[in-house]
Amino acid sequence: MPAGTPQPLLSLYVQYARRKSELDAILEGHRDKLDADLAELRAMTRNDSRQVLLLLLALGAGVLAALLVGSWWLVRRGLKPLKTLTTAVSRVSEKDFRLLLKREDLTEELVPIHERLTDTLDALRRAFDREKQAVGDISHELRTPLAALRTTLDVALRKPREAEQYRITLSDCRDIARQLSKLVDRILMLASLDAGQASPSRLPVDLADMATECLAVIRPLAESQNLALVGDFPKELRATTDPDKLREVLMNLLHNAVEYNRPGGTVTLKLQRLGSEIRVDVTDTGIGMMPDVQEKIFERFYRADASRHAVGVHAGLGLAIVREYVNRLHGTIEVHSSPSEGSRFTVVVPAAI
Ligand code: ADP
Repeated sequence: MPAGTPQPLLSLYVQYARRKSELDAILEGHRDKLDADLAELRAMTRNDSRQVLLLLLALGAGVLAALLVGSWWLVRRGLKPLKTLTTAVSRVSEKDFRLLLKREDLTEELVPIHERLTDTLDALRRAFDREKQAVGDISHELRTPLAALRTTLDVALRKPREAEQYRITLSDCRDIARQLSKLVDRILMLASLDAGQASPSRLPVDLADMATECLAVIRPLAESQNLALVGDFPKELRATTDPDKLREVLMNLLHNAVEYNRPGGTVTLKLQRLGSEIRVDVTDTGIGMMPDVQEKIFERFYRADASRHAVGVHAGLGLAIVREYVNRLHGTIEVHSSPSEGSRFTVVVPAAI
């Protein structure tokens, strides 16, 4: 104790000193207990957090699994209409172009695709049918002249003949071969038009000259059938067009006007300019056509009376080619006809293409 310390203070100090040591001991005891509690708490917390972690992991795995299963189900459900459509498309063949499914089986988004597919398949079916029809028609048209050729040769070879008779037979065979080759040329021409070839040229054309030339070419045939041939066009008539295609159109129409005319009849070729267009009329006083025939004459291989020309280039392709050419010239073609009175074919093309 420091010297000179007053008595009460001393007693307080002693008292305090005693209590402090006790207090320290108590505090020590508390600290130990607290440490122990803390350690226990830490252990418990570690244990709990491990459990929470495990729980979270399990929960996460569960959610992931549920998500995977859910998405798989959703995707499967979403893809089902697409699968239905794919199955229907894979069943399409050249024998059956139909898409065998119900519209209700498709989702809203697939409906336009379905419609587009149906249209395309329909167009394909029509093209396929046309192709099959064309093969049949071509074979049929070739068979007739080929049979005529074979018969002519068979008859000639049946017994020995004079040189003159052989000459006549060979000449007949040459005529049939020429017709065959014209027929093949027409078929090839249509095939090349279908393939998108033969695009039009653009040349300045003297239409009066062209019309005069066409009439000169057809005149011997017209005269042989006692037909009058009339040209009705101005001296000056010019256009910028494809002369080969336009000439082919005029020749085909004139040829038909002569072929389907009657002895003593007339064929008129009229050309005129109407504003920015050229109008061509080929009129005949021939056999004419019924309305149902008029609807079909531009179809390939269509002939109103197939027996009329059993052999030759008259395979019903002339007007089909004419229509294709007129389309290429950006024009239109129409027919007006009455049975027994005659027909008028009107072609209108731009004066400059
Ligand atoms: P084809 O070469 O057989 O004459 P087209 O395509 O030129 O073939 O004509 C088709 C059919 O249209 C002919 O078979 C005929 O029946 C009819 N036709 C064409 N032009 C005339 C016409 N001027 N008068 C009457 N019938 C016609």
